[in-house]
Amino acid sequence: MSSKYVYFFGNGKAEGAATMKNLLGGKGANLAEMTSIGLPVPPGFTISTEVCTYYYAHGDSYPQSLKSEVAAHLAEVEKLMERTFGDPKNPLLVSVRSGARASMPGMMDTILNLGLNDTTVQGIIAQSGDERFAYDAYRRFVQMYSDVVMGMDKHILEHQLEMKKEQKGVHLDTDLTAADWKELVAEFKKSISEHLGQQFPEDPHEQLWGAIGAVFGSWMNQRAITYRRLNNIPADWGTAVNVQSMVFGNMGDDCATGVAFTRDPSTGENYFYGEYLVNAQGEDVVAGIRTPQPLNNHQKKPGDLPSMEDVLPECYGQLAAIRTVLEKHYQDMQDIEFTIEKGKLFMLQTRNGKRTAPAAIKVAVDMEKEGLIDKRTAVLRVAPSQLDQLLHPSLDPKAPKKVIAKGLPASPGAASGVVVFTADEAEAEAKMGKRLILVRIETSPEDIHGMHAAQGILTARGGMTSHAAVVARGMGKCCVAGCGDIKVDYKAEQFTARNGQVIKKGDVITLDGSTGEVMLGEVPTVSPKMTGDFGTLMGWVDSFRRLKVRANADTPHDSRVAREFGAEGIGLCRTEHMFFDAERIAAVREMILSEDLEGRQTALAKILPMQKGDFIGIFREMKGLPVTIRLLDPPLHEFLPQEEKDIESLAKSLHVSTQQLRHKVEFLHEFNPMLGHRGCRLGLTYPEIYDMQVQAIMEAACELVKNEGYSIIPEIMIPLIATVSELKTLRANSIRVCEEVIARYGVKVDYLIGTMIELPRAALTADEIATEADFFSFGTNDLTQTTFGLSRDDAGKFLPFYVENGLLPEDPFISLDQNGVGKLVRMACELGRSTRAGIKLGICGEHGGDPASVIFCHNVGLDYVSCSPFRVPIARLAAAHAALC
Ligand code: ADP
Ligand code: MG
Ligand code: MG
Repeated sequence: MSSKYVYFFGNGKAEGAATMKNLLGGKGANLAEMTSIGLPVPPGFTISTEVCTYYYAHGDSYPQSLKSEVAAHLAEVEKLMERTFGDPKNPLLVSVRSGARASMPGMMDTILNLGLNDTTVQGIIAQSGDERFAYDAYRRFVQMYSDVVMGMDKHILEHQLEMKKEQKGVHLDTDLTAADWKELVAEFKKSISEHLGQQFPEDPHEQLWGAIGAVFGSWMNQRAITYRRLNNIPADWGTAVNVQSMVFGNMGDDCATGVAFTRDPSTGENYFYGEYLVNAQGEDVVAGIRTPQPLNNHQKKPGDLPSMEDVLPECYGQLAAIRTVLEKHYQDMQDIEFTIEKGKLFMLQTRNGKRTAPAAIKVAVDMEKEGLIDKRTAVLRVAPSQLDQLLHPSLDPKAPKKVIAKGLPASPGAASGVVVFTADEAEAEAKMGKRLILVRIETSPEDIHGMHAAQGILTARGGMTSHAAVVARGMGKCCVAGCGDIKVDYKAEQFTARNGQVIKKGDVITLDGSTGEVMLGEVPTVSPKMTGDFGTLMGWVDSFRRLKVRANADTPHDSRVAREFGAEGIGLCRTEHMFFDAERIAAVREMILSEDLEGRQTALAKILPMQKGDFIGIFREMKGLPVTIRLLDPPLHEFLPQEEKDIESLAKSLHVSTQQLRHKVEFLHEFNPMLGHRGCRLGLTYPEIYDMQVQAIMEAACELVKNEGYSIIPEIMIPLIATVSELKTLRANSIRVCEEVIARYGVKVDYLIGTMIELPRAALTADEIATEADFFSFGTNDLTQTTFGLSRDDAGKFLPFYVENGLLPEDPFISLDQNGVGKLVRMACELGRSTRAGIKLGICGEHGGDPASVIFCHNVGLDYVSCSPFRVPIARLAAAHAALC
């Protein structure tokens, strides 16, 4: 730990820099950086995150030298501003702002206008010549400070304000006079001391330390903890505190405040995009209290209020120039906050802007074309998990829609679900497996858990940079914001659309976050396409990665989707789905329940041509790409008839009595089917099943090779191997069948016979097993179940508890447990290669589509990952990231 805790910025010089985010937080580091590159930033200083760590490690106390360091830096700010903190004639006012390493929108509390008291307010009046402004600033400060620092219930003061307006017979805050605000300040303070038994602090230094303590304290408030949990932000990062001299956007009509993105954060288009308010302070823009105005005429829509480009053209020009400077400097799209005080522009924040997946791709591809970044950087700019948003269906443009309202397209994608009005309800309904849309007048940080649970978010108020919009984009959720067409009534649990239609809690609506439309009922969707910028980026992605990406697909249709998403083969084709088909299940049951080999063979002969047809379809779709087919895996148990009528009809076709059949079914019942008579154990006890499947695979391949000139190398995969002896027997059987088919067709077809590694014993003896296997495919779903000794089907009852309480960092069925299961994978790779150099290695569990797991697979040197077709682009991008990092 260093002995320096406070870092100054101001007047073109800064002790910090953008590279110091860990120490200064994102806000502090970028305030320093902007200062250094000559942008107009009000001077101030940043108290480092190390102080936060110290604060929590030492029972809420500070390092000894902090007081004097703060005093010294405050004096520097005073000198630059030519004002003195607490001075009755010429007071300096400051803001106290939190700022962690990662941006946590709305999570931490900022206090503005700090330093005001009954004496200093006179100085502000004398200087500004505006008594009303001074008392408005003062009452805002008392409200914010008492809420954030003292724990005063803010509704009490808000109510007092409403009463004051009533008493004066006015409707708007702006109608209150200087004298009214002055009275209110006194009344506020009185009610604070009545409610809290504690005076509002008059001493500016006491105010400052109170605020600093509150920022550090807010790092551990519930909202912040929830946000960190949802975003995997470690608690030990801590927050920094920024103390910065105030500038005022609320001193008249030549003042303003606003937020902007250097490009459109929703589409990624290269246009300056933002919102501002004349004569307003700080959070007025994001809070959604007043309707914000557009930054420029490009974004202006009919009915919008005048743009900043028209109202404050000089400042707009300056801001547009800063936009270019920032993008050149940071080489990324920025999200900025600014304030104009009496015609003078100040920058208050910049950070890399959150963006939707389409915007991320467009910005990355455009910036490469503009020469701002190279292809490598462009690929690294898009997070693999973000693509998920693009790979989901969007609304079918041809489907009929009943549009009942239109709001702002705040975060794209489409979502249908039942309407709920509170975050708690959203969470509760989601737990019941419902899809839902959270409808709020506006959202606040208290709603985060509900937004997380919902499929989409609809708000009646707030702009493109409102809390709802920013958070939804961050979560990759569809959001329609600022939908003035609807009137929300929380009490009646309903909202009314402009046409008078009433939508009640529980009714289904659909949101289109790309157009802002709100529709009644569920609207059908269509599959996404990989064209345009997406296609360009994926081309770059493929040039960087080493790991191949295959898909898990069981049908010709899924195979086609997989290939369209760029799959380079099928890593797992499950054959049991083919058995469950309504027409086939009867034959399958007949086979299982036959008393003798002959009966089984008769039944299997019925299934053979169907299986062969399946494989022909899949091979055709995959156009010569490798296809790994897993022989029958699930417990026989799962195929048994349960319903009485099924047992009866089956008994008839088997020519046995219902009674006899029922006994047989009971006999085959298993207590623990997942560890029972399944996988290769079936293949060993009923060899004719696997023989039939191998025959179907090889006949399909031979026919296509012979008649249609395909080149196919089928990969036959034997599941649930625990010992090499099992594999040895089954491999010999398979080879016999393959050779018989090849001889019969008289063509040359190569084939591979390999196994899944999905039991710890297989991983532990992979060197032995490799002597009988041409390839390994890690079945990490079962390998996770058997390594942890937990059943995935039952884990829902306790696994979430484990994750919430930090007993496990993540659900091991979603992201591969690298320390445990991963160790087995790594070991099996090494053992396998030791007896069969160049053995083909892949993974076919769900983990094949999880970015962190894909990076692990790259690092242990697998040849390919295989995942569900819709996740193929995610895996491709993750594989490129793995190769580039
Ligand atoms: P958040 O992290 O929630 O964005 P900020 O610290 O950025 O919180 O501040 C909240 C609002 O107050 C922003 O609109 C910001 O621009 C404004 N603000 C902060 N410091 C100052 C200041 N020194 N002068 C004027 N406005 C400020
Ligand atoms: Mg804040
Ligand atoms: Mg901010």
